[in-house]
Amino acid sequence: MTVSTAHTQQPADYLKRYYGYDRFRPMQEAIIQSILSGRDTVVLMPTGGGKSVCFQIPALMLPGLTVVVSPLIALMKDQVGALHMNGIQAAFYNSTQTSREQREIENDCISGKLKLLYVSPEKLLTESFFQFLSLTNLSLFAIDEAHCISSWGHDFRPEYTQLHVLKEQFPTVPTIALTATADKLTRQDIATRLGMNDPAIFVDSFNRKNLSLQVLPGQNRIQQIIRLLQQKPDTSGIIYCLSRKSTESLAAKLQEKGFSAAFYHAKMDPDDRSKTQEAFLRDDVRIICATIAFGMGIDKSNVRWVIHYNMPKNIESFYQEIGRAGRDGAAAQTVLFYSFADVATYKDMLAENNPANLGLQLAKLERMQQYADAHTCRRQILLSYFSEELPDPCGNCDVCRDPRVTFDGTVLAQKALSAIIRTGERVPMNLLIDILRGSRSQQVLQGGYDQIKTYGAGRDIRFEDWRSYIHQLINIGVIEIAYEQHYALRRGILADQVLYKGRKIDLVRPDDAPKPVVEKTRAKTETQRDDLFERLRVLRKQLADEQNVPAYVIFTDTTLEDMARQRPTAPDALRNVSGVGERKLQLFGKRFLEEIVGHVRGRVEAGEKPKGSTQLITLDLYNDGLTIEEIAARRQLTTGSVAGHLVQLAKAGYDIDLVSLVDPFERREIEKAIGVVGMEEGRLKPVFDYLEGRYDYGKLTLVAGLL
Ligand code: ADP
Ligand code: ZN
Repeated sequence: MTVSTAHTQQPADYLKRYYGYDRFRPMQEAIIQSILSGRDTVVLMPTGGGKSVCFQIPALMLPGLTVVVSPLIALMKDQVGALHMNGIQAAFYNSTQTSREQREIENDCISGKLKLLYVSPEKLLTESFFQFLSLTNLSLFAIDEAHCISSWGHDFRPEYTQLHVLKEQFPTVPTIALTATADKLTRQDIATRLGMNDPAIFVDSFNRKNLSLQVLPGQNRIQQIIRLLQQKPDTSGIIYCLSRKSTESLAAKLQEKGFSAAFYHAKMDPDDRSKTQEAFLRDDVRIICATIAFGMGIDKSNVRWVIHYNMPKNIESFYQEIGRAGRDGAAAQTVLFYSFADVATYKDMLAENNPANLGLQLAKLERMQQYADAHTCRRQILLSYFSEELPDPCGNCDVCRDPRVTFDGTVLAQKALSAIIRTGERVPMNLLIDILRGSRSQQVLQGGYDQIKTYGAGRDIRFEDWRSYIHQLINIGVIEIAYEQHYALRRGILADQVLYKGRKIDLVRPDDAPKPVVEKTRAKTETQRDDLFERLRVLRKQLADEQNVPAYVIFTDTTLEDMARQRPTAPDALRNVSGVGERKLQLFGKRFLEEIVGHVRGRVEAGEKPKGSTQLITLDLYNDGLTIEEIAARRQLTTGSVAGHLVQLAKAGYDIDLVSLVDPFERREIEKAIGVVGMEEGRLKPVFDYLEGRYDYGKLTLVAGLL
């Protein structure tokens, strides 16, 4: 057998050719090598970490078929579509297909035409499918969303537990299991339940650096959201709400304000639900107000922000939900609105349902609350929850960007509590502050509150500052709001500890405390996107609609950003843009180049001289049929420069026939001269002199370019 070229190709070559990326991310290559060596492999990597290439590249490199088990039938179509766009032969197999379609797919698998087959566990675990599999040359099983196998996990699927049958039926075929779950128990469960044989386990960092973290006070959320969204026009995002009702009312309010918004929850008609989801995937709807039912089936890579209208009930859910932003690696923003009322709601719900693990759930809720209350780096708190240490503060959360100064607020807390108790836990916040500040307002006097001991005990503190402190005390549970009693303030769960057990309370100066979003605060982290990026984005949407795929399947936001930065004006240069593989270059290269060239021309006309523009002007004149000499005269350049442009353009992939520009006889004579005197560092002066000036630099440059 002769050595085929495929063997000399390295994983990195596949990465460049099919995906257009220059480098593997940490771990990807080791994972691929593990699979190629035939070892069972478990991959724990966060959403957006790049799990797909870890099994897709082995699938391309191994001789036979890779079967991908995925729980989400709705997703398979998009995943397979994305593979096709990269020039990879793949298909999915499900019950929506006719038996004839299925026969065809089976035949393509058996003949080796298809490299990847996506299938749901239900379909996979049928006898007929096993019979079919035994006819194929099986190379690999890839179990995607492998956490579904664990009853510990948040998304347990009973069908997944049967997957150990694969190992029993096909003991020699290696298996790769992949998941983004950060939950320890689930992780340990996966390998065991799949019956894996001494697996290699890869655990990537769960730090999603491109996600900024921010917590905002939960007052006037809708206004704050509107202001936030006004700062990010034309971007896609999700707003998670606790109740179905609030998804609907919020979507309606946003629509009123002119935003492209829709709602999504589990009680909707399934048809409407999938239509809404589809519209979001296709960028036809920008904003989804959703309950947590939304997201599992969302592979959309250009979700630029996630807002939590309500606080999630634990950090696992929170991490999962913010994780839907920024899968493409470009900067994305996450905002959590936090109010103690949400905590109270959860507590009520838990008390009502009284689940067996009530204690655990309350503890988890408390950890979530600690995250929201934190005065230290939020990412450190988040990662420590998943037992991952982040040695230094992250620099990309609100606390890092705006460090807080705390002071011992125990006495303040005691004054407030004392006033609450002495007024019989019956007064709301503003009245309480009036009492503390010794106001002589009608309400104070009428209630006789000027007679109590704490009247005026906090007159040195401004009204607004008191509000901030009381909010903070509510957030940490020292004070509670009795919603059912006209918003009266009462003792919170920590009150007794503060009053009688010497518990210290740290407060943040109001100037340092998280502030509601106001119009003037422009998001600093927003990536600078210029006109060209916008043009490319519009073109992408147009191509996506033509091809009937989501926009990010054409190119991700990261790729568009890189393209706008590099501004390639020729096919070869476009190849250097991250995310432009061979197939996409073929399919879309021309259209994107035209757009960039159009942009560069526009800037030239505006009197600027952007990179690459001088070559483009030469190209235009060349395409108008002018000779090198005519172009040189018109542009007041030397023929050598113009010829140089044409050589560069030809090398960059433009259709320029350099050969036709020199007479064959002349070409031979110049080549000979170059052979005699050489061209040190590309210098042509010795050649020019040797030929006694019979040929101008234009001709010499052309011939040298042809060598
Ligand atoms: P996951 O399945 O882990 O959520 P994906 O496989 O969808 O993540 O990858 C997330 C994004 O990162 C995709 O846009 C993917 O093309 C991109 N990506 C993957 N590997 C690389 C790499 N080595 N270099 C640059 N981008 C990559
Ligand atoms: Zn931080």
